[in-house]
Amino acid sequence: MKVKDILSQDTVSVSFEVFPPKKIESFDSVKSATEAIAQLHPDFMSVTYGAAGTTAGFTIEIAENLQNAYGVTVLPHFTCVSAKQDTVEEMIKKLEEDHIENIMVLRGDIPKDGKREHDFEHASDLIRFIKERTDLCIGGACYPEGHVESTNKAKDIYYLKEKVDAGCDFLTTQMFFDNNILYNFLYRIREADIHVPVIAGIMPITTARQLERSVSLSGTNVPERFRAIVDHFGTNPNAMKQAGIIYASEQIIDLIANGITHIHVYTMNKPDVAEGILRNLSEIIK
Ligand code: FAD
Repeated sequence: MKVKDILSQDTVSVSFEVFPPKKIESFDSVKSATEAIAQLHPDFMSVTYGAAGTTAGFTIEIAENLQNAYGVTVLPHFTCVSAKQDTVEEMIKKLEEDHIENIMVLRGDIPKDGKREHDFEHASDLIRFIKERTDLCIGGACYPEGHVESTNKAKDIYYLKEKVDAGCDFLTTQMFFDNNILYNFLYRIREADIHVPVIAGIMPITTARQLERSVSLSGTNVPERFRAIVDHFGTNPNAMKQAGIIYASEQIIDLIANGITHIHVYTMNKPDVAEGILRNLSEIIK
């Protein structure tokens, strides 16, 4: 099924993101975690693409297993980093052979040494290339607080419009911990004539270290209320996990109450976290 068709339904959708193994040695444990998450029956699952493209094959392998063994609609990610025209064409062929109908297209993070061999500078270049050659449903990323490299939010939205016009069928947001930031962003992008569905990306923070790492990579604003939770419970793993799941669940409830009906949870491959969220929402998303 195409993700855009799931999003066009008049119901709440909850989807989950997982990541592939970084090394072959952890393939089996990662596969089991993604399978446990699939058994929670999300509306779809996305599978990220290794930062430097080193474990590229694992993304499609994990996605294919989830689709074939569990009947879940899948959304493998793909990035511009190291993508040449012929590798993209091979990847498209593989998706078609595997009957995968969706792809999330990203620029990827540029390697620290700045070196990369690539044919596509921005996500929009790769989206345009794929759109011209396939019928795949294409997703793109958006940043309610602005992308870290962008000094100007208006410019970021200008390029976002270019990305959508290149062929994005939907957008998924970067994590955010303050829903007002998303509401403001949605208002601004609709004003800028961007009308594709936007899926709210929610990251349940279950350890203090995870917060530190996520925020340093994304620059996401941490509200005082959430910082106090992490300060207080950060040294008690079980309490922090429970508090993180509840905070994320409350964020989702507020989103749904304000008409944002498509939610993507960054599960970090933790089935218990995904399950905890679904349990907290059981009557709400029935
Ligand atoms: P782009 O849309 O290309 O934007 C990158 C920057 O360039 C922005 O500052 C934008 O304003 C600017 N820009 C865009 N177009 C132009 C232009 N024509 N001229 C000048 N400037 C321009 N990374 C991975 O490696 N693997 C993943 O699986 C992955 N999944 C992700 C999923 C989501 C939902 C999100 C939000 C991010 C994900 N990322 C992933 C991270 C992403 O690759 C990085 O945030 C990356 O730095 C930007 O990717 P993008 O696709 O948004 O880039």
